[in-house]
Amino acid sequence: MVFLTVPYAEKDAAKALGARWNPTRKRWYVPDGVATEPFAKWIDGAPGAEAPSAKPGRVDSYQGKTVVGLHYIELAHNCNPMQACPTCTGQLAGTAWADAQTRLMAVVDAMPGTSSK
Ligand SMILES: [Zn+2]
Repeated sequence: MVFLTVPYAEKDAAKALGARWNPTRKRWYVPDGVATEPFAKWIDGAPGAEAPSAKPGRVDSYQGKTVVGLHYIELAHNCNPMQACPTCTGQLAGTAWADAQTRLMAVVDAMPGTSSK
């Protein structure tokens, strides 16, 4: 049998196509002997099923792929990005990364006992 991920709103559609409910696993499934093609969009891991977000820099961590931040920018310079660097500052200026870093530093500076200076 093939287990499906069916949104609650689509359960009736899946049921009409022949999907069955497994009360133990609380999942819909395609019984053996039934063609799975009509259920493709609900099959786990199928393209379009719980579509991964299109945002750059977000990667499913459970798949073991490299995870980088939303505003990730690759720099050749191996410096500490939390410290002003004359080589990289110009490259980062005006980017979403710089905006995010500015906001982060404002939060850090507002914390008692910390300073990014
Ligand atoms: Zn640098």
